[in-house]
Amino acid sequence: MKATVFHGKADMRVETVPDPAIAEPTDAIVRVVNAAICGSDLWWYRGLSSATPGQRTGHEFIGVIEETGTGVSHYKRGDIVAAPFNFSDGTCTFCHEGVFNSCEHVGYWGGDNDGGQGQFVRVPFADATLSTIPDAIAHDANKRTSALALTDVMSTGHHGCVRARVERGGTVAVIGDGAVGLCAVLAAKRLGAAHIIAIGHHPSRLEQARAFGATEIVDSKDPDVAAKVIELTKGGAHSVVEAVGGQGPLDLAIQIARPGGFVSFVGIPIGTQNFDARRLFSHNITIGGAVAPAHAYIDELMRDVAAGTLDPSPVFTLRLPLEDAPKGYAAMDDRSAIKVVLDVSPL
Ligand SMILES: [Zn+2]
Repeated sequence: MKATVFHGKADMRVETVPDPAIAEPTDAIVRVVNAAICGSDLWWYRGLSSATPGQRTGHEFIGVIEETGTGVSHYKRGDIVAAPFNFSDGTCTFCHEGVFNSCEHVGYWGGDNDGGQGQFVRVPFADATLSTIPDAIAHDANKRTSALALTDVMSTGHHGCVRARVERGGTVAVIGDGAVGLCAVLAAKRLGAAHIIAIGHHPSRLEQARAFGATEIVDSKDPDVAAKVIELTKGGAHSVVEAVGGQGPLDLAIQIARPGGFVSFVGIPIGTQNFDARRLFSHNITIGGAVAPAHAYIDELMRDVAAGTLDPSPVFTLRLPLEDAPKGYAAMDDRSAIKVVLDVSPL
């Protein structure tokens, strides 16, 4: 089968790799219909985090069950499914407590496992990992693209809002105008926030933030960005979602949180060294991550996609066939695309 392979900084290739096969009774083989490229893939694409040449890539995909192991009971050949960005066994203590990323058998797509950006994926713990995509969504091109967003960015944006305790009628500041930041704006709107401040510096993305429900826009490059948000919110935002990653955005998040407020950080904290513990202490600000237990949210968000009340599909601004995945990476790297959807096989 064809799949993307990482060869080095800015060097992605689509190559022939071994077809996956059922290895454990709880496995399923999924034929990928659509996959996505994630902003978090840019960390290693740009050489800013480690990746091993030859490793497989892609952690966002939806597809059709091709084959199931003897221990799979929820799914059968032909079912249409979405996978969260990691797999989990569904049976350990942490899965029962809903923190699927901390599963005792957690694993991520790509690396030594099949990546989502390929024609087929072996899915471990299929019953516990996958979610059903209803036919009405799968056969509606726009809704199907929305379902793809639930595998990571929309669930992550929602998680940021949950962890930042977004309240109906409340005030939320979202740092970052990438796909996750935009999805956090959409999630905040869905949860009933009355004031949503989007902080970023790409005009077209901030325009999309407005379309998703942002009520105010603040330029992240403005040296007075923190003061502006504090002024707009008369003392800081009750909820702050940091959706960039790294020290600077996290520092800003803590600066603009209202006394007694909540900060979540869903951007990968690469290079983050410390928190301003003194400010957290002095102002009773609660901070919490982080990586989204996407599986916990997909069914709930899928119902809203089905109902037509949730549409994150505009975060995908470029659609390419799988063989052009390297162009998709380049387009995300140079910021000409917010997020890329790959057409891998017909439904
Ligand atoms: Zn588990």
